Amino acid sequence: MAINTYALPVIRYPTGIIKWTAEAPKETNIATRKLLNMHGALYPKCGTARLYRDRKYGGKGLKSVHQTVKEEEQSIKVYAASIATSDKLLSEFQSATLTMELPSDDEETDWHMKPFRGAYHRQISKVGDLYQTCMWLTKGNLTTNTESLIMAAQEQVLPTRQLQPKICHTRDDLRCRLCKDAPETIQHIINGCKQLGKSAYTEWHNHVAGVVYRSLCDEYGLNKPQHW
Ligand SMILES: [Zn+2]
Repeated sequence: MAINTYALPVIRYPTGIIKWTAEAPKETNIATRKLLNMHGALYPKCGTARLYRDRKYGGKGLKSVHQTVKEEEQSIKVYAASIATSDKLLSEFQSATLTMELPSDDEETDWHMKPFRGAYHRQISKVGDLYQTCMWLTKGNLTTNTESLIMAAQEQVLPTRQLQPKICHTRDDLRCRLCKDAPETIQHIINGCKQLGKSAYTEWHNHVAGVVYRSLCDEYGLNKPQHW
């Protein structure tokens, strides 16, 4: 939100008047992602497409510099065209070269279609409401780092044992380090591990049940326990 609100207007304001080199928007996007990465706001192996997607649909809601430049040039063009007939100066302006063709930005392709990274969102879209599922991104109060970690888990890029041989070529045993029963995938850690079942899953279940319980108390005017 800070980048969209404070940094992008600096780029937006002179766009369409000062010319960008074709590569500059892309380089600025890369520099921004590097900063986010350094501060834990973008997990290293996560795809970049999700970064520029609206939060309502599961993205991080960052505006791409490339997109900002394109939008701004387009809106100046539309504005100039709308009043050029009655304004001689603007009609000159309109006939001058206004837009340049930016090279297409491969970061903006949809990550839902990626076989591995997009699997979670494709599955959710089939069985539930994606908009409501993504509400934790618009209504939640998580820290940037926690948010990035959850996104990384959804995109299956956390360094589980199953992924380690593929990424680092260091380990051959793919089995879960706790139960040694099944390959250590994100899905296994979240809901398939017998060792975690005894403690962590019960605790998660109770926390969720607590939220539901308190919401029901609110709705029906019942007394709520003082402590969570
Ligand atoms: Zn396990």
